[in-house]
Amino acid sequence: MQKKDNPKFIFVVGGVISGVGKGVAASSIAKILQDRGQKATAIKIDPYINIDAGTMNPTEHGEVFVLNDGDETDQDMGNYERFLNIDLTRTNYMTTGRVYQTVIEKERNLEYGGKCVEVVPHIPLEVIRRIELAQKQSEADVVVVEIGGTIGEYQNMLFLEAARMMKIKNPRDVIFVMVSYLPVPTTVGEMKTKPTQHAVRTLNASGIQPDILIARGNSPLDAKRKEKLALFCNISPGRVISAPDVQSIYDVPENFEKDGLSDLLCELGGMQCSSTVMPSAKEWKNFTKKVHNAKDEIHIAVIGKYFETGEYLLADSYLSVIEALKYSAYTQNKKPVLTWLNAMDYEKDPKSVSNLKKYDGIIVPGGFGSRGIEGMINVIRYARENKIPYFGLCYGMQLAVIEYARNVAKLKDAHTVEVNAKTPHPVIDIIENQKENLRNKRYGGSMRLGEYKAQIKSGSIARKAYGSSEIVERHRHRYEVNPKYIADIEKAGLVFSGCSPDKTLMEIAELPTEKHPFFLGTQFHPEFLARPLRPHPLFTAFIKVASSATRRRGGK
Ligand code: GLN
Repeated sequence: MQKKDNPKFIFVVGGVISGVGKGVAASSIAKILQDRGQKATAIKIDPYINIDAGTMNPTEHGEVFVLNDGDETDQDMGNYERFLNIDLTRTNYMTTGRVYQTVIEKERNLEYGGKCVEVVPHIPLEVIRRIELAQKQSEADVVVVEIGGTIGEYQNMLFLEAARMMKIKNPRDVIFVMVSYLPVPTTVGEMKTKPTQHAVRTLNASGIQPDILIARGNSPLDAKRKEKLALFCNISPGRVISAPDVQSIYDVPENFEKDGLSDLLCELGGMQCSSTVMPSAKEWKNFTKKVHNAKDEIHIAVIGKYFETGEYLLADSYLSVIEALKYSAYTQNKKPVLTWLNAMDYEKDPKSVSNLKKYDGIIVPGGFGSRGIEGMINVIRYARENKIPYFGLCYGMQLAVIEYARNVAKLKDAHTVEVNAKTPHPVIDIIENQKENLRNKRYGGSMRLGEYKAQIKSGSIARKAYGSSEIVERHRHRYEVNPKYIADIEKAGLVFSGCSPDKTLMEIAELPTEKHPFFLGTQFHPEFLARPLRPHPLFTAFIKVASSATRRRGGK
């Protein structure tokens, strides 16, 4: 058998500003190499001390993305899974906190054999160990490693040092890509290269020379700027990739290929890249065509609370929900139009729920705590009574159960103990083994996390959508439907159509279709498993019903 090539490691770093799409660039790099027959995986490095993203407010750091193994990670991990259509594990995610924790534990266990343990080299060596482990576990030919933050920040220096050390050891197996940003000041009207030149110089000070520069900007790079960047950043013009804003993030891989990026990477790493078009590439192309061609609008309201940051509105906290809706809509040739509505508005002014009439469907996504909760319950009641398709995700399911318990099962003041520990009807209660976690203030990484099996009742919406009686979905919650109230609530008409194999945990609640076209909530997070090439069956079912609602409401 021919000896396999050494695995390749492509480090992706960001220059000038954050938020230029480094995660999408890293995902797209892995994707174009996957489409050339390389087994690709991706790693995200987050420079903060938090052990995982689970303890951060989503407005601080965007969505918390949960993996099969229950790791609470950064939203970029979701991008990798969606672009590559693979499942990642906790090995693919690291934070400064994780790295230090391991080094300190090893020191306590005398694993450094009496040596003085120092920030350099021991921290970078631990980073390298983790990167190599992720490669081994996935048996990847190519590992794309995205270093969080922007060049020049103090926080990511040790990760850059790890990358530099890897390059010194195996120069041909390590490639550096910088994703930079070229602003066009309105007063000048011309794309400026200077900030990128400075960013490259700062990276040089860490002993790293980028092999490839991805130049993000509003418009494509012209030849003049390509040459300027090449000259001042020590890169040949052929290695400067133009990356203008595109209609959708799914166009990015194809756009990179316009400048021959995969050829360039294959050549730099000496990889044997196939030139036949892979089936995954064809399917991707079909999907992007649908994204461009979809005209038939479908209007979905998302009732949330994690999108205000100062004067700005960010939908990042619900990224996987947005993506899941898109996949199911586009594959049905529908153009999803999402409207972000603040749950607090429906709490302050409950009557304003009537402005939801114009939507084809309503989603209440996951969340925590008491802020905006009564607003969400008002919205759910309106959706139920007015037969607007409703899809509740995690908290959105728990709140639907509360709404139904209060207004239909007549369990006055029914609530979740998360919000009101003294409610007379705790229809949503704490999972037994979680009580101790809360008592001991063990909050981090201690919820019911990751994949669990569930069984689906025949004749239900869920069963029809999945086409199967057993499913596996990803979870992230501490509370659950209280088993003591199941009989009462079911008697009032709500059906628990999915539950854990031992029947103790309710996983899906829905109304029969004779009562409502689509009123369904899941205790799990279906959005984490939705992919462009594998839309999620429940989102697809929701979109299907919502598009017929468009017609009912006199739309197209
Ligand atoms: N706050 C609820 C719980 O902990 C729901 C969590 C969520 O929506 N992810 O159970």
